[in-house]
Amino acid sequence: MATIQTDALIVGAGPVGLFQVFELGLREIAAHVVDALPLPGGQCVELYGDKPIYDIPALPACTGHELTERLLAQIRPFSPQFHFEQVVSQVARRDDGRFDVRTRAGLQFDCGALVLAAGVGAFVPRTLKVAGLEAFEGRQLFHHAERVPAAALAGKRVLVSGATDQALAFATRLCRQVAEGAADAPARVSLIHRRDVFDAADETVGDFRGACAQGALHFIAGQPTGLETGGDTLTALTVLDASGATVREPVDTVVVLQGLSPKLGPLADWGLALERRQVAVDLARFQTSVPGIFAVGDVVAYPGKQRLILSGFHEATMAAAGVAGHLSPGDDGPLEYTTSSPRIHKLLGVS
Ligand SMILES: Cc1cc2nc3c(=O)[nH]c(=O)nc-3n(C[C@H](O)[C@H](O)[C@H](O)COP(=O)(O)OP(=O)(O)OC[C@H]3O[C@@H](n4cnc5c(N)ncnc54)[C@H](O)[C@@H]3O)c2cc1C
Repeated sequence: MATIQTDALIVGAGPVGLFQVFELGLREIAAHVVDALPLPGGQCVELYGDKPIYDIPALPACTGHELTERLLAQIRPFSPQFHFEQVVSQVARRDDGRFDVRTRAGLQFDCGALVLAAGVGAFVPRTLKVAGLEAFEGRQLFHHAERVPAAALAGKRVLVSGATDQALAFATRLCRQVAEGAADAPARVSLIHRRDVFDAADETVGDFRGACAQGALHFIAGQPTGLETGGDTLTALTVLDASGATVREPVDTVVVLQGLSPKLGPLADWGLALERRQVAVDLARFQTSVPGIFAVGDVVAYPGKQRLILSGFHEATMAAAGVAGHLSPGDDGPLEYTTSSPRIHKLLGVS
């Protein structure tokens, strides 16, 4: 695979990584952005996408999704290149001061500076612990609701696993499609969780229980323990139910929505000075102990650090000046106002 060359590589497409694109863009530094998730927004989208945030300056209220959409609109003039579902696993500083960066799936970057906006770590979906199930990933097994292709749902027996808002809402939505007789509706919808207790909003649980009461949704209290196949096709899961009996659940598609677990994992091995599993930075440039690697947002540690989005936005502004100075030593650039700089207006396409 060809190596991707870039001025700056941002690890993390959470709110702070997205705003980092903007601050670098103002300094005419192009950025590629890598995230383990299939979509931008980080914690804002994955953990509280539909809940309002009240402390973004000048936005009295906006949901995690809205904030992400606004950030994406703001950085559009800089055409950042995104690489989703890629976990950055290796970072090596070369003798010429540039960095070789690799992802687990094999992408390779050659970048002048690296900005870690990695939050609490790469969000990796929690999986079902059933031996051999991983072989069906992307065909019959999915871990992101928005990544399930229509062909894996239409006319299929779909089993959703999880007790999260996302799991219940997804299963209920599929049942609605069945009730409406939609062409792409599944043949049968089941949801499995080890017990009849859910970690979701009351309204979502209410809708879910309503669908179960109507017989549209089949709830299984239990845990999958094994699988059955026919050729290279998954045909059923065996389940240890709450009464201790082993039952067979025929399936065509399994959608596991058990939440995400953040894994700082690889980042801890890149030779950066850490403080209690967060990255130590200097407060003038937000540079780490490795020259050319900067860090912003929830991933950093310094005295008084507040894990808030607005703190991350400030840090991204400082780090952009640091990256500029690193790429062109001695040239941090003068402070320019976006209201009045013709150069910035041209970049933003508003002149
Ligand atoms: C329930 C909840 C409510 C909150 N409410 C508020 C609020 O009201 N106001 C507020 O200001 N803050 C709030 N926060 C905190 C806020 O969400 C965080 O401060 C913010 O998301 C940090 O942004 P970030 O971009 O630094 O990191 P994140 O949002 O965590 O994004 C980091 C991204 O980096 C990716 N990543 C990490 N490592 C790798 C790797 N090795 N390879 C590839 N990708 C990687 C992750 O997958 C993730 O998408 C809340 C947090 C929670 C959990």
